Amino acid sequence: MTTTGTLYIVSAPSGAGKTSLVKALIEAAPQIRVSVSHTTRAMRPGEADGVNYHFVPREEFLAMLDRNEFLEHAQVFDNLYGTSQRWVEKTLAEGYDLILEIDWQGAQQVRKLMPQAKSIFILPPTQEALRHRLTNRGQDSGEIIERRMREAVSEMSHYVEYDYIVINDDFAHALTDLQAIFRANQLCQQPQQQRHAGLLSELLA
Ligand code: 5GP
Repeated sequence: MTTTGTLYIVSAPSGAGKTSLVKALIEAAPQIRVSVSHTTRAMRPGEADGVNYHFVPREEFLAMLDRNEFLEHAQVFDNLYGTSQRWVEKTLAEGYDLILEIDWQGAQQVRKLMPQAKSIFILPPTQEALRHRLTNRGQDSGEIIERRMREAVSEMSHYVEYDYIVINDDFAHALTDLQAIFRANQLCQQPQQQRHAGLLSELLA
């Protein structure tokens, strides 16, 4: 029987450590894939096209939007972000669990379309820690950091819409929490039934 993967939504304010946590999670879990979004934002130092994002000009993004190619999309800060519907469907059909690292607006759209998706919100331990992490990244100006702080507070107010909350105080602890969420979901009846169809029919013979 073909197994169908579980869709996960992971959201967090910028600087909460979401990307590093997800990276560490998937390094030890080859059955989990992460969606690479399309964005109109400029590439940051250290980023690569097709790895962190598919970086596209605004016109190309809008043309994709017209062709209904996005499962969800949103404007975050001044940039557009979107998730390829075709890629999501293909990856889940192949049996992989799939993570969408998206904001609360995208999360709301995905929940409507795929109510079975599990959503996780990652929070920083304090506002000061968040500001410190944003400043230490050294990628943005002071003005942008202040704007990101305001946006972070607004993003965090949506935590109530999520199934799970992870506090990223200690990285290793937060990673263990994240792994526990994925493991528990893998043990749910439906995926277990698909995974162990042979065993179950043998046990019940
Ligand atoms: P950044 O530009 O710092 O990588 O991401 C800014 C925000 O955009 C983050 O909250 C991130 O989760 C969100 N984001 C990234 N890709 C997508 C996407 O495909 N859809 C939506 N809705 N948000 C996204």
